[in-house]
Amino acid sequence: MTVITRFAPSPTGRLHVGNIRTALHNWLLAKKQGGRFLLRIDDTDSERSREEYVDAIREDLAWLGIEPDGEERQSQRFTHYEAAFARLADAGRIYRCYETAQELDLKRKILLGRGLPPIYDRSALALTEADHAEKAAEGVAPHWRFKLDREEPITWEDGIRGPQQFDAAQLSDPVIRRADGSWLYMLPSAVDDVEMGVTDVLRGEDHVSNTAVQIQMFTALQAKPPRFAHEALLVGSEGKLSKRLGALGAHALREQGIEPEALVALLARLGTSQPVEPVVDPTLLIAGFDLLTFGRAPARFDEAELERLNAAVVHQLPFAKVKGRLPSGMDEAGWEAIRPNLAHVAEAADWWEVVTGPIAQPDFDAETQVYLGQAAQSLAWSEDPWRSLTGALKEATGRKGKALFLPLRQALTGRDHGPDMAALLPLIGESEARARLERAAG
Ligand code: GLU
Repeated sequence: MTVITRFAPSPTGRLHVGNIRTALHNWLLAKKQGGRFLLRIDDTDSERSREEYVDAIREDLAWLGIEPDGEERQSQRFTHYEAAFARLADAGRIYRCYETAQELDLKRKILLGRGLPPIYDRSALALTEADHAEKAAEGVAPHWRFKLDREEPITWEDGIRGPQQFDAAQLSDPVIRRADGSWLYMLPSAVDDVEMGVTDVLRGEDHVSNTAVQIQMFTALQAKPPRFAHEALLVGSEGKLSKRLGALGAHALREQGIEPEALVALLARLGTSQPVEPVVDPTLLIAGFDLLTFGRAPARFDEAELERLNAAVVHQLPFAKVKGRLPSGMDEAGWEAIRPNLAHVAEAADWWEVVTGPIAQPDFDAETQVYLGQAAQSLAWSEDPWRSLTGALKEATGRKGKALFLPLRQALTGRDHGPDMAALLPLIGESEARARLERAAG
């Protein structure tokens, strides 16, 4: 059976790193098995869902290289939910309720005050048809709850958490539909998972109790529940759920100069027993993906770690991948010379200016000026002009180490540090290099 996973964001905002991690893991899980990864837009809430966020979700996934094999939208599937709703109603698994939010809140508070779990007391189940008729006559529409089967134990083998067990009597019958007819998340999601043939639901552990409820929905819909796995939540480097993390998305990271490969490499393995490494080839991440390596402790997302990984990724990026983002005139040799010095691709422009000039040189003392004058004269173009230049100067002056190299670097680039001079000098070119050395010599 083909593995089918899905990522089901609600388009009420942009994706944050936590969502992206879930999307990525579902994609890796599907690809590992040669399966399909679906994007399901959970847009039943027409007030809060925005088309611009749907576009942003697609864009972010595309940027990350997480390509869905299909896309579905809940807002186009209302007839399916109606049909499932009718079936569950016929089977006596749905009932009408009228409590207001305030009444429910009060009931919860009373139970909590008595030290009891705040479970809905099912008082609406006692309503008679005459009671319902009265409500209708008053113009009060019901909302609807799914009736859990309290006799049926709920168990599943969680792909990350191991064997799970829930007592339905300890859960509230969930509201599945509001009085205005709109759908809450719980039933549409189960219906979609059945009808889209989803075999594996991998999501955050904040969904564990939803899974308990949804397992009964699958059974009530006469469908086999998918396999479930719940991953530990993502927290900030300080170990807490941070506001920043909740707002940090692909868009912001991209503007910060983070490469998609770096974010993918980090999120793929964060919270697992596998080492986080600058793996830029997704096929390696796919091959190594394994739910058994996932830990139960919250995964810490550290932006400093992402920056380090990013630099390591940039050092590997081939010219073809970054071409469009490089300063004009910068060719493959230029990229390869400069790449090891970059933390972000955008910094290539600064180094390219060093190559093309003009550069500002420091003031040299008289002795160094003499040395640089010698350098201008010794400059001979060859396969490896840096090597011939420094070789000749070493011999002629007896200088070595820093005294040999630093003035040359300063005169040729205007800086104390930077890319390998052997790679940089050919890019600067013979006449420009000579001119810089002569100018530095005074
Ligand atoms: N739209 C739901 C959410 O974003 C989907 C949860 C699920 O994966 O079932 O939380």
